[in-house]
Amino acid sequence: MIKIMSEIEKNLNIVRERIEAACARSSRDPSGIKLVAVTKNVTTDQIAEAFKFGQMVFGENYAQELRDKYKELSDLPIEWHFIGHLQKNKAKYVSPVAKLVETVDSTDLADAISARAVRTIDCLIEVNISGEASKSGCPETEIAKIAAHIEKIPNLNMRGLMTMPPYSDDPETSRPYFKKLKALLDKLNDELSPAEPYRELSIGMSHDMEVAIQEGATIVRVGTAIFGERI
Ligand SMILES: *Cc1c(COP(=O)(O)O)cnc(C)c1O
Repeated sequence: MIKIMSEIEKNLNIVRERIEAACARSSRDPSGIKLVAVTKNVTTDQIAEAFKFGQMVFGENYAQELRDKYKELSDLPIEWHFIGHLQKNKAKYVSPVAKLVETVDSTDLADAISARAVRTIDCLIEVNISGEASKSGCPETEIAKIAAHIEKIPNLNMRGLMTMPPYSDDPETSRPYFKKLKALLDKLNDELSPAEPYRELSIGMSHDMEVAIQEGATIVRVGTAIFGERI
């Protein structure tokens, strides 16, 4: 137990250093990058341990897990993101507790999240940028329609885009996908001219966060590099 705990502190320090170094290399301010600690297959003890070392933003993939972890840790002022594929009928678990849903991929899902909201929820649209059938997220042709819908319905704030490129051991493989998502965000802002421009780009995970930061990430979602390999 002691060993696991010190690992998390050590890992968090390493991840923060990696973010700072990547920012320095691309002349970015580290305060412009939000680190989301990914909690899939992570216990509430591990989450509380990371919180103790200053990590306040966590991202969960599974709707009921989010509800349960939120409940168990409700005494901690955690900012919860939902980052997994969300079925409409499970929005009821997510909407009451999530500050940000990163994976809105249809107007129907936006409606379901909105209907269950108890306060304003920030939204990112997840884009299936590689077009792989196995990946969740909307096709790029749907982005503007979904964003306009989010603008129209109550309780939701449209904030930006999220994607997950095909996995590769080589972080450089992710770069074209990150570049493309940034271009899609710029295009969306041109098309819709929102009152407040959409600025969030949720790209980058344990193995490719440096590339993501170079390509404009404002949110990186990091699991393994903080909590260790998932079993
Ligand atoms: C698991 C997961 C991550 C984190 O991946 P790591 O490689 O463990 O850092 C990020 N985003 C999503 C959507 C995930 O499912």
